[in-house]
Amino acid sequence: MATLDTKLSSVVGAKTATALADNLEMATVGDLLHHYPFRYAQRGDRADLNALQIGEHATVVARVRTVTNRPMRNRRGSMLDVTVSDDGGNTLNLTFFNQPWQARHLKAGRWGLFAGKVTEFRGRRQLNSPDFRMLADTDEEETSELIEEFAGAMIPVYRATGKVATWTIARCVRVALDVLTDPSDPLPASLRTEHSLMDYGAALRAIHRPDSTETLYAAKKRLKWQEAFLLQVTLVQRKTRAAAAPATPRPGRTGGIRDAFDARLPFELTDGQRRVGDDIGTDLAHPHPMHRLLQGDVGSGKTMVSLRAMLQVVDSGGQAAMLAPTEVLAAQHFHTIREQLGDLARAGELGAPETATGVTLVTGSLGAAARRGALATLADGSAGIVIGTHALLYEGVDFADLGLVVIDEQHRFGVEQRDALRAKAGKPPHVLVMTATPIPRTVAMTVYGDLETSRLTELPAGRTPIKTHVVPGGDGRWMNRTWQRVREEVEAGHQAYVVCPRIGDDESDSAPADDRRPPLAVLEVAEGLSNGPLAGLRIGILHGRMTADAKEQVMNEYAAAKLDVLVATTVIEVGVNVPNATVMIIMDADRFGVSQLHQLRGRVGRGTAAGLCLLVSEAEAESPAGERLAAVASTTDGFRLAELDLEQRREGDVLGEAQSGARSHVRLLSLLRDADLIGQARVAAEAVVGDDPDLTAEPLLAQAVANLIDDERAEYLEKG
Ligand code: ADP
Ligand code: MG
Repeated sequence: MATLDTKLSSVVGAKTATALADNLEMATVGDLLHHYPFRYAQRGDRADLNALQIGEHATVVARVRTVTNRPMRNRRGSMLDVTVSDDGGNTLNLTFFNQPWQARHLKAGRWGLFAGKVTEFRGRRQLNSPDFRMLADTDEEETSELIEEFAGAMIPVYRATGKVATWTIARCVRVALDVLTDPSDPLPASLRTEHSLMDYGAALRAIHRPDSTETLYAAKKRLKWQEAFLLQVTLVQRKTRAAAAPATPRPGRTGGIRDAFDARLPFELTDGQRRVGDDIGTDLAHPHPMHRLLQGDVGSGKTMVSLRAMLQVVDSGGQAAMLAPTEVLAAQHFHTIREQLGDLARAGELGAPETATGVTLVTGSLGAAARRGALATLADGSAGIVIGTHALLYEGVDFADLGLVVIDEQHRFGVEQRDALRAKAGKPPHVLVMTATPIPRTVAMTVYGDLETSRLTELPAGRTPIKTHVVPGGDGRWMNRTWQRVREEVEAGHQAYVVCPRIGDDESDSAPADDRRPPLAVLEVAEGLSNGPLAGLRIGILHGRMTADAKEQVMNEYAAAKLDVLVATTVIEVGVNVPNATVMIIMDADRFGVSQLHQLRGRVGRGTAAGLCLLVSEAEAESPAGERLAAVASTTDGFRLAELDLEQRREGDVLGEAQSGARSHVRLLSLLRDADLIGQARVAAEAVVGDDPDLTAEPLLAQAVANLIDDERAEYLEKG
């Protein structure tokens, strides 16, 4: 008998086990049984043959129509031509060179599974020498290597590779299920009853060999519940444990740097900023660490909120660190914060107020001496506020008393990196995570499920919402008008961004993944514009392969309005703040994701002048890409766009970004379609963990959760 932990080599034989290990990374029976079919084919499926993409490795279910063997004209040998079709009348050609004996099994009228690479010959789809298995006919007693039997009408089709066919997997699964002792169930009995969930073993059997659509549905529901529930239990536990840890309260004080700063603010805080600011202020005063996610569109004033929180910590004798995803952004935050603080950032300088503190920038590109100097201010506590990139996470970066960590644009940092920074404080610091990417509810519950959440929903008063239009890129008149708009803005004293998907130096540009032309490139577009439609304007270039110094210099020139136009890649996506920039032209806009476009256009219209964003694209208006662009143009509601974005991304990508190990455990769950289930699993997890934080009453659940966390750590270590 076998369990989920049994090595595959003792169940399916050494050779097959090696093939499964090498091609599909499967080591145990559990790995195999968690490789669920991605669809179920039936004799008579209609969509199969229609949906074949040239170049893909496809497995189809079809019926043999004609079989002809003929000698080859110019070469020696023979060719077996087979036509197969589905019940919808779609046909496909199969060709076999020099394998006349294959005809023995390929009898007209019989159903089979055919697998191979899809090619095109004279305008028709075909499979060359496909691998195949005929399906057993119910009225015939046949035993052959080439006949497959499936229990029900539904034939599981597995994600396969050229080396391991779907029927090989199906056969291994059948063997494994035959010897499997049903695993004990990690889900609490009460939960199974309450939500009518099938047991674990039964669900594993049914998802591989369903005898009806009802059983299949029940099996999927059960397995999804398991994925959602285990994930929620880890998150709720993480949250509960983190909240129970001791932290130094940072209540602030009256008459300190924060009050001095507030008194100088040139504007009123928005209601949202005030409300969220109060919540954060209260959290910081608690003897337990804050873990809060602050969401708000670009320009909604998050940085302002975080700065006030940092000042409260400084007022309490501690330090605050802000972690930014790029050097450009870190440098920008550093300059804005120093500017906003004025002499309050000049502790130790002549004439600085006595409440002043020091502000230090730490990035990977500091020279050795500068770095030593910067690190000294962290270690001796003279820097109350530290801004940096992930260079802050390195060994040898020590703080005197780190009280608050602010993470800007969280989606680029994983849980592990958060932990690394947290570990730099004697006691766990308070943590504020900020993101401008609006997060759909299910993602907030899963990827960020261990955080409290706050939202800034309004923009500061006086902002004119940005206007967005789609411009047909192939149309010369429209493009002339586009560049003319840029000139008009510049003549009115404003500045412009031109964003391109690609840099255009050979090193960083990989070959396009498809047969479209390569996306437009910064270097070429900048040159074309300065010799053409934007001749005479001061044009600068910014991209990720420039040195940190060069980037900073360009950003500074742009911020100081010494450049009219900045041609850039998405390095400007996050946080770059030049209120005088009023127009953004996004070239080949269809090459960007919805959220990314939304994020990008947030760079304009940050001042009081109206912002304009033009999405230049050659995509047809009716194509999916064209419709995406139209959606971005039609609304500035970031949450709606985030949902749209989620629909277009693979679930694993969303989860994988922040929750490395969870990816391998989430196979069936969809963040989009299973929102209700995820919500219920959250409630159930809170109830279970609330009553019994260490899960002592549920040892099987505790074990399953421990395994999940182990895998997560292991994956993190592998990634380095
Ligand atoms: P975010 O970080 O959410 O993108 P910021 O905090 O950088 O937003 O704010 C964007 C701009 O708006 C900054 O120039 C900032 O000084 C300004 N700002 C912030 N809060 C207000 C407010 N309440 N009223 C007017 N302007 C504000
Ligand atoms: Mg910001």
